[in-house]
Amino acid sequence: MNDADAPSLPVWRPQDGPGAVLQLIASGRAVTRGAIAEALGLSRSTVLDRLGLLIGAGLVRETEEVVSGRGRPSQVLRLDTKERLIIAVDIGEERTRVAVTDLGAEIRGERVERLELSDGPEALLSRVSAIAREVLADEGLSADKVVGLGLGLPAPVDYEAGQVQGWSIMSGWDGFDIRSALGRDWPVPVVIDNDVNLLTLAEQRTHWPDERHLLYIKAGTGVGSGMVVGGAIHRGAQGAAGDIGHAHISGYHDPLCRCGNRGCLEALVGGWALAEALRADRPGLRSARDVAGLVKRGDSDAVALLRTAGRILGEAAAFATSMLNPSVIVLGGALSAAGDHLIAGVREVIYQRALPLATRQLRIVPTHFRSRAGIAGASLLVRDHVLDPAAIDARLAGAPRP
Ligand SMILES: [Zn+2]
Repeated sequence: MNDADAPSLPVWRPQDGPGAVLQLIASGRAVTRGAIAEALGLSRSTVLDRLGLLIGAGLVRETEEVVSGRGRPSQVLRLDTKERLIIAVDIGEERTRVAVTDLGAEIRGERVERLELSDGPEALLSRVSAIAREVLADEGLSADKVVGLGLGLPAPVDYEAGQVQGWSIMSGWDGFDIRSALGRDWPVPVVIDNDVNLLTLAEQRTHWPDERHLLYIKAGTGVGSGMVVGGAIHRGAQGAAGDIGHAHISGYHDPLCRCGNRGCLEALVGGWALAEALRADRPGLRSARDVAGLVKRGDSDAVALLRTAGRILGEAAAFATSMLNPSVIVLGGALSAAGDHLIAGVREVIYQRALPLATRQLRIVPTHFRSRAGIAGASLLVRDHVLDPAAIDARLAGAPRP
């Protein structure tokens, strides 16, 4: 058979191929044949052709729901989330959460353990893999259905390379090839990001989908931030964007930070620093969670310290507000969850310091999530990767025609 006789593969334009149709359905922006045709400027028969491929590949399902608009009622199409699984991992200083979710970020099983970051990447990642296998087995789920693995780390991450970069509390991880280590157990795409970026992604997608400029500040044992700029996570040139914990704040006697520098924001307001300040009279305090516990029990020293911390954090947030002009600032982390003390201080200083134009419409709110934002973010990041329109088009180009 010469080339002229070979069946020609369909070639789609990225803006209206099957991948683009899937994006509309997955995001909920267009969920009927008519709405998709209108959104992409395609004929109904072309839309039917694209949908046939997506349904055949098990990516889209027709539901029983109908919506009525002009003309006759239309059947609703949904992303088929149940048949594909994602392993979502949130490695934290205090604890590590390993979950299996479906493509809709719905948790199908999870495990929380305390893993020591000081054990180094090889040991820790092999434990993460083992836990993931156990969760799958416990829930009677097949590893063959896993389509991707998402991992959040408390360190600056070069997103493209999938590696920790530079100094962080994760010593021994700088430059380690995480993707290869996990790829030995999971032959699927592995995406790795900074943990606060994942919290930011989860918060924005789940609770603020219409806000295109959002700043997330995590005040826990460590301090970090994440940004959605123009609708997308902003990671910066080296993945260090938002790493405000080690920005210098002057005027507070420059206490020593755990990074070795002096006067870092984290050395003033991080949970570890607050615990250290309170430890003289209250032995055993270590983490943000310990400090939050004291605050919730009404310890007046801890409350006063957290209020002051809120105002100092507010200085950094006011500066970031002037730089980024977000419409929403979300505060997360264990210190933010200990009543209104921290957020009150942050609000006070932002409204004092940032320009009126930047604060006129600004909302400063606590996170909606309790403890699973990292998992949700990791799952959403993998889903974005798996459903990338170009990847879907490339995959379906070779699929048999329905
Ligand atoms: Zn520091």
